[in-house]
Amino acid sequence: MTTSPTAPVAGSLPPAPDAKIAMGWMHTARFLTTAAQLHHLPPIHVPEIAFVGRSNAGKSTCINTLTQQKQLAFASKRPGRTQHINLFSLGKHGVTDAVLADLPGYGYAKVSRSDKLRWQQVMVNYLVSRPGLTGIVLLCDPRLGLTDLDEALLEVLRPRVEEGLKFLIVLTKADKLTRSEQAKILSITRLNAAGGDVMMFSALKKQGVDEVAQLLWQWAHPAQVADAPAAVPGDGPGPASDDSTPDAPEDSQQN
Ligand code: GDP
Repeated sequence: MTTSPTAPVAGSLPPAPDAKIAMGWMHTARFLTTAAQLHHLPPIHVPEIAFVGRSNAGKSTCINTLTQQKQLAFASKRPGRTQHINLFSLGKHGVTDAVLADLPGYGYAKVSRSDKLRWQQVMVNYLVSRPGLTGIVLLCDPRLGLTDLDEALLEVLRPRVEEGLKFLIVLTKADKLTRSEQAKILSITRLNAAGGDVMMFSALKKQGVDEVAQLLWQWAHPAQVADAPAAVPGDGPGPASDDSTPDAPEDSQQN
């Protein structure tokens, strides 16, 4: 198992919901929009949670596993969309109460230096200036640990986390590690997590899935007030979302 999703985090969080509620909510994810540049992103009036990570860290697999949808984040990998910020709406009955932002993976060796620099800049601008940004999920392959690019990102994030931005490091592909290796990398990563949370995750073994979903739900629902969530521009009714058993997530990821 992983750390408790209710471990102390800056700012107060509501109690963790039942895992079924959190997973049902995640399953409502639907494509909202894609943008190559920050200023093309629509303003969002609900909590926005960004997924970032080095290319190949397991970000797409993690998003697909959390949302129990085989293709959602792999759509981001279609030619022409790999360097885009892709937004997904979340919320029951077609009413958006949060947005997931899938940021392009960084550090991909085959990308030209100028493209890398351009994207690092877009990412930094996004992290520093995006209004409504509520939380960041940094995906990291624990066999590589935090790379230089991850560390650079942490430095950018540190002041924002101190101001209350939620932050979680998800250590992916946990199935590749023994229990004792997992415990060791968890404690090392916690030391470098800029005050955020750290959880182990395996799409293959479904480890940590409920816990991450529960924490994201808490981030997106800081206070269960009666106010209706604001609508997101351009958000249609979206596919039906209910509590029925979702499709089985992919379970044959290998790397
Ligand atoms: P991204 O570039 O960060 O979006 O990474 P992907 O989601 O495409 O994953 C990169 C590779 O890691 C793929 O071959 C996945 O099948 C593999 N992978 C992702 N998650 C897991 C996991 O939990 N366990 C294992 N064993 N492999 C995984």
